[in-house]
Amino acid sequence: MDNQNIALVENFFKSFKCDVNLNEKELSIKNIPEKMQILFRIDKDVNFNLEDLTDSSGLVIKIKDYLKNKATKTLLKIDFEFPKNIQDRIHLRNCSISKVEKKHENNYFSRFSFLTTFKNMNHVEQVLNDIFVHEGKIVKGDLNDYNLSEGNIKEASSEHLEKDYNAAKEKLKEILSEKIKEISVVLESKINSEAERVKNHYNQLISEIRLNKDRIKDRIAEAEKVRDTVKVNKLKEMASMSLENASKKIEEEMNSVLENERKKDSLDVENKLINTTIIYYPIFNVVLELNEAGFVKKLEMKYNPLKDELSNVTCESCSSSLDQINLCRGGHICCSSCLHLCAECGKRFCRNCFAGVCTCCTKIVCKSCARTCVDCGKLFCKNCMRKSSVTGFEKCQNCVTYCPSCSDIVEKKGLVRDSLGRMVCRKCFSSQKKITFTESYNPNSFKLHKG
Ligand SMILES: [Zn+2]
Ligand SMILES: [Zn+2]
Ligand SMILES: [Zn+2]
Ligand SMILES: [Zn+2]
Ligand SMILES: [Zn+2]
Ligand SMILES: [Zn+2]
Repeated sequence: MDNQNIALVENFFKSFKCDVNLNEKELSIKNIPEKMQILFRIDKDVNFNLEDLTDSSGLVIKIKDYLKNKATKTLLKIDFEFPKNIQDRIHLRNCSISKVEKKHENNYFSRFSFLTTFKNMNHVEQVLNDIFVHEGKIVKGDLNDYNLSEGNIKEASSEHLEKDYNAAKEKLKEILSEKIKEISVVLESKINSEAERVKNHYNQLISEIRLNKDRIKDRIAEAEKVRDTVKVNKLKEMASMSLENASKKIEEEMNSVLENERKKDSLDVENKLINTTIIYYPIFNVVLELNEAGFVKKLEMKYNPLKDELSNVTCESCSSSLDQINLCRGGHICCSSCLHLCAECGKRFCRNCFAGVCTCCTKIVCKSCARTCVDCGKLFCKNCMRKSSVTGFEKCQNCVTYCPSCSDIVEKKGLVRDSLGRMVCRKCFSSQKKITFTESYNPNSFKLHKG
């Protein structure tokens, strides 16, 4: 038990004239003023377990910060369970999930609590504004619906705070400008009616002076009639204080009175950041292992539990957003319209993995089933290719033929006309030449070339 902290809390609330009661187990505080309730986010009447009032207690930290005139900081964590039915929300078409792994990272938002005091001579008003910011943007926030717990400083980052704070300050200005306008209107009308009153008062004075001067004039005229020189001089002296002078003096006085009234009613706005809360929650990284007839591919998706949202998966062929996931045997994720069956191997491939249409049989074939004939440069399926017995290369059906002499598959472009006028392969052609040669020199040893 930390007696120092207990005394701190006890004395702190006593200084605000709360009813504080300490027993062996608990510290009960009653009648906490509203401002303190807002600042410390506690109820009017609270009970604290003495064991809880340690150095890491939120309340103890807040009180210490308050006494140091520092904004309090709070770290909150929103607890989310990873949804068990996540697999049901992923629509797979030609594949299935063989494994789901989840790793998690955190996402953040901030809450800034500003206490604004509007002050003038006769009036003080305080307003508390909570501003929520996510990724530098103002968001609507309400923490009441979430399962909150005290955050762990090791898990949280505060990199985003500065950016968020700047956004919050701008928003506060916006909110306050409305309020200031409102108060200004009230003040302005007060000043105006006050000014009206002051002006009336001094106008009254001026008209009295004017009246007085007229009376003195009459009295001078009367005194002159009876030749009372002493009285005339006295009255003239009185009149010498000219009307202009008098009204000028009065006007000066009136202006200074008005100026004072304005000062009295000028509005003083003071903002104080009283609390910064960093709120974090997990973003789940879902690793799916898709399986299509034994062919396996890993797919990563993000699940944001706050928005209850799975990240978008797009087709790697046409970039459209997928509501159904297809797995291409080349290892790509694609949409249903980009998935085709290879007529040669019977596997499904995405558009990127398709080579094209066979020039000969017009089958659509995948890259691994497609061949290009080196002689004509055209695309064929592997079924439409023939191996030349002369070169050993695969050529297309159009570029090879059977040699009429040896019946081997040979390249058309290598055929030679023999002595019988047939187009034969070079092998047959050169052995025929050998026969001709042998015939002319040694007809007895004539042998038919075996092809
Ligand atoms: Zn597509
Ligand atoms: Zn194929
Ligand atoms: Zn593919
Ligand atoms: Zn073909
Ligand atoms: Zn060819
Ligand atoms: Zn031949």
